Amino acid sequence: MSTPRENAVSSVAANGIPRKCEGCSVEEVTSSYAEDVFNTRQMKKLLPNETFQKLIKTVRDGAAIDPAIADDVATAMKNWAISRGATHFTHWFQPLTGTTAEKHDALLEPDEDQNFIARFSGKNLIVGESDASSFPSGGLRSTFEARGYTAWDPTSPAFIRRGTNSATLCIPTAFCSYNCEALDKKTPLLRSIQYMKKAVHRLMNAFGENSEDAHVQISLGAEQEYFLIDRNFYLARPDLIQTGRTLFGAPPPKHQQLDDHYYGAIHPRVLAFMADVERRLWHLGIPAKTRHNEVAPAQFELAPLFEDINLAVDHNMLIMEILRLTAEEHGLVCLLHEKPFAGINGSGKHNNWSLACDGVNLLNPGKNPRQNAIFLTTLCAIIRAVDMHSDLLRAATATQGNDFRLGANEAPPAIISIFLGSQLVNVLEQLSSETENDGEKRDRKSIFHIGVDALPPFPLDATDRNRTSPFAFTSNKFEFRAPGSSQSCAGICTILNMIAAESLDCMAEKIESFGGKQNISAKLNSLLAEVFNKHKRVIFNGNGYDADWIREAAKRGLPNAPDTLDALEALKKEDNITFIEKTGVFTRAEIRSRYEILMNDYRNRIRIEGSLSLLMARTIILPAALRHLNILLPLKSSQDAPAFAKENYNKVAFLADALTTAAEKLELRLEEDNAERNILSAMAELRVAADRLEHIVPDDLWLLPKYREILFIS
Ligand code: ADP
Ligand code: MG
Repeated sequence: MSTPRENAVSSVAANGIPRKCEGCSVEEVTSSYAEDVFNTRQMKKLLPNETFQKLIKTVRDGAAIDPAIADDVATAMKNWAISRGATHFTHWFQPLTGTTAEKHDALLEPDEDQNFIARFSGKNLIVGESDASSFPSGGLRSTFEARGYTAWDPTSPAFIRRGTNSATLCIPTAFCSYNCEALDKKTPLLRSIQYMKKAVHRLMNAFGENSEDAHVQISLGAEQEYFLIDRNFYLARPDLIQTGRTLFGAPPPKHQQLDDHYYGAIHPRVLAFMADVERRLWHLGIPAKTRHNEVAPAQFELAPLFEDINLAVDHNMLIMEILRLTAEEHGLVCLLHEKPFAGINGSGKHNNWSLACDGVNLLNPGKNPRQNAIFLTTLCAIIRAVDMHSDLLRAATATQGNDFRLGANEAPPAIISIFLGSQLVNVLEQLSSETENDGEKRDRKSIFHIGVDALPPFPLDATDRNRTSPFAFTSNKFEFRAPGSSQSCAGICTILNMIAAESLDCMAEKIESFGGKQNISAKLNSLLAEVFNKHKRVIFNGNGYDADWIREAAKRGLPNAPDTLDALEALKKEDNITFIEKTGVFTRAEIRSRYEILMNDYRNRIRIEGSLSLLMARTIILPAALRHLNILLPLKSSQDAPAFAKENYNKVAFLADALTTAAEKLELRLEEDNAERNILSAMAELRVAADRLEHIVPDDLWLLPKYREILFIS
């Protein structure tokens, strides 16, 4: 009888050629782009002009929605959805689990005469009420106060999700409690966007622009890394099924040492999968752009073009879902876990973030002195924000899965620092060496002198690449590289928007105090120099993977939170709570609830992993060792036993003992409260014994598919 592992290998080997992608011709994909989205193009076509104009104001500038237009919009949306085959609708939201949630209702219902007709009102569109007691609320709402409300977010367009034989109209919504407390990830994100809009308007005003109506846009381009493995291997690995990562598994002799996977030719089966994913994303108006092999074997990346941040966050949720579902159809499994395989690279999600006002990117070094002044002010504001609140940024990336990745020489360390590149640092250093008087002496006719002399015309790629920095300035945007691959971008971007907006607001306030536009030239220099000097300790252009950096960062007083338990402490600090409350992005109770939920998630995941490790060690790995010992026993106990048999027996027996001892220890740890770190170290000990056994026990006795198979056979 063959083992599950052998079965898996032979099933994978029997895989056929991937089926041909349908609807992939350029004509087909261009004509079907965003066909499943009720976007402004559709709205313009299907809505009365007056309604459309009102709606577009909300979509573009986040103006409050006029409830009077809801019925018009609902009717148009319903007719459009039905014409696209939708039978159901759902308010689609993002609860604090970090995933998406949906509860479908039929768009169709019988009327008095038993005709099955479509019904969908403005009220259905704007607000939904649901029993929300089973979503985590972190104490914001107890079970007896089960009501939760979903509220339409007109700034993210409705779309249609398709199943094999179904189509559902999905309406992006925020999710809150009866007391209007945010029970989701979107509400605080929207608040942070609003806060940023105000801050940018204020800054522009301080620079003498009349910017009340200026369109402020925060952009996000989220690069998504993932692993793709054959489903047969997945099904033979209880750890992958239950936890998304392998809890055991010795690194194979060849993994990523030869760097032969990164940007390599894409395997036909994977390419067929990618093409299917892209086609689905394009139907949903998600601008999938880049695809390639990543560093680790079986690891890949998908990057869409950047979009408006709220939309990009929603789109990333859909990207993760479509990756997972499409993989299944291809007999594959998409692993979004940050560290599915020990010893090789894990997966991150680089958040590329920038800020624009009326189409001008504030992070673009300008062509004229005025734009340069705004650029340098924005840059200094962000340096200030990251330095002052790096602990909050770190907390935003803290998850149990990401703990295995951050600081493991494949991802940025758990210390938040900024990479600016030497050219920009020089510019900022030069500012500091100029005094206020230099500014006074300058030609008073040009209002913004700042940086003119210091800033050479910037080539677009002025900044070199530095893959080891958690927060890197890359030409005209920041790339936040610490977030984990499975994380929702919402929480990360909320914190980033919030701290950047507060800092821009603070800069605006200072500039306002200069006493008029005519004084900016003279005074801005010293303000920027002061801010830069105060916060430049957070800038680090060197190798973030270098152990020396950890010591250097400690000297500079930069926080270093190596794991989630440490990182989440930031959410309990009173000055942080006061700061966040002041921004209006979260209430005190909401911060508390986030802390509780994140902590619970962390503890639960570790306990699940711990229990499963124990189970697998005792029911799968130890029995394999015992079978091996059984084979060796007669050899070993015969009179003229060969030396190798004895030696081998002793080795296996020793490791089996070690495994048993470690298992007992883990079992005890699992019974203790607040023992997460101890559980992790007991699991690590257990794994050492198990992984060593994997290299000794005969291949045909080992039941779990090995890394060399999972990662290399497709
Ligand atoms: P990398 O070379 O860092 O892997 P990719 O091409 O994979 O870069 O991804 C870069 C991401 O940054 C893309 O999503 C891209 O659209 C996005 N991006 C480019 N310019 C901006 C910008 N100004 N603001 C935000 N995101 C941007
Ligand atoms: Mg990339």
